[in-house]
Amino acid sequence: MNLRNRLQQLGAVALLSAAMAGQAAANHTCRNSGTFEQWMAGVRQEALASGISQATISRTLDGVTYDPNVIKRDHGQSVFQQSFLQFSDRMTNKNRFQNGLAQLKKNAALFARIEQQFGVPPAVVVSFWGLESDYGAYKGNVWPIIRAVATLAYDCRRSDFFRTQLMDTLRIVQRGDLRPDEMIGNWAGELGPTQFTPSDYYKYGVDFDGDGRVDMVRSVPDALASAASLMKGFGWQRGQPWLQEVQVPAQLPWDQADLAIQHPRSQWVKWGVTAASGTLPADNLQASLLLPMGRNGPAFLAYPNFKAYLQWNAAFVYATTAAYFATLFDGAPRMGRGNAPVTPLGRDQVKELQQLLRVHRLYDGEIDGSVGSATRPAVKKAQLKVGLPADSYPSPELIERLRSTR
Ligand code: CA
Repeated sequence: MNLRNRLQQLGAVALLSAAMAGQAAANHTCRNSGTFEQWMAGVRQEALASGISQATISRTLDGVTYDPNVIKRDHGQSVFQQSFLQFSDRMTNKNRFQNGLAQLKKNAALFARIEQQFGVPPAVVVSFWGLESDYGAYKGNVWPIIRAVATLAYDCRRSDFFRTQLMDTLRIVQRGDLRPDEMIGNWAGELGPTQFTPSDYYKYGVDFDGDGRVDMVRSVPDALASAASLMKGFGWQRGQPWLQEVQVPAQLPWDQADLAIQHPRSQWVKWGVTAASGTLPADNLQASLLLPMGRNGPAFLAYPNFKAYLQWNAAFVYATTAAYFATLFDGAPRMGRGNAPVTPLGRDQVKELQQLLRVHRLYDGEIDGSVGSATRPAVKKAQLKVGLPADSYPSPELIERLRSTR
């Protein structure tokens, strides 16, 4: 679900979710205290105290050892910059789209039943299935999850997050969903073709084929219904849109293009926003204007359901790509390329920008060369300050202006 490892597997960027990136950055110099075995004894005690049986603890944790290869994978990840268009073109390529259409046809009855129960349409479920695992064809699910999660929980950098995950692997075993040896997934501890973390698995997993257990590893109905269950848990509203491509005029109050700001569609229409295809009704439905590459790039209206995407993965480029991919299955045409070519800043340029934003007291986040959820609002403030269109997308011109006004 956090796409760090998956993106690398797919040869795409590693877009750390904001929370994960923050945690990793904050703790990268930490040290483990005590041996893995000592630490594991504490985990057993905590599990027992939280109501997990001795039998479950023994059959799950006996013989589990530290796996240095998991840590090697985790440390080896680098963060690349890739534009929204580069990323989404790759992730939603024609082949993946065609395979998704075939899956929709093949599993039509299942998708219909899932929508009936959870209110999440086939287009949304199939797109996650495709992005997370190429409809189950992904070959990286070969790691024993308990060992991987225990290793990541012992490692001091994100120990709280993974310790919770480890407790939930025990609960999954105790509930009878999977045997410990059946818990095979990716090295970051995610399970099944929709790549669920153990905690999401435990909380949102659904037995949809009726065999009495949640088996997202082998049961396609369980995996897909659980994805819908998760989106419903994130607040998905039945029958509501999630994302719509639009065209923006040359002039607009660009500072209103912000995920934190909603306006009724009638207001966007009044400002000259039009549908890229079909119609944009001038009604009261609330929407945010999303400009993943600034005012010259592709443009979308994001509806309240889009918030569920950001909970699935907080990385903005991933969330927008996933929502866009779903619109394709819903019948929307491929997106346009925007009004003008957009050249994204390179990593060093972003670092310089972050430093300048700091100098101007607009930013106190990491100098990591990555435009994430902390940098975008600072970019907007800087644009307002120097009098550039405040579309939250950084440009060489903004760096220039900040340099000359420091
Ligand atoms: Ca089942």
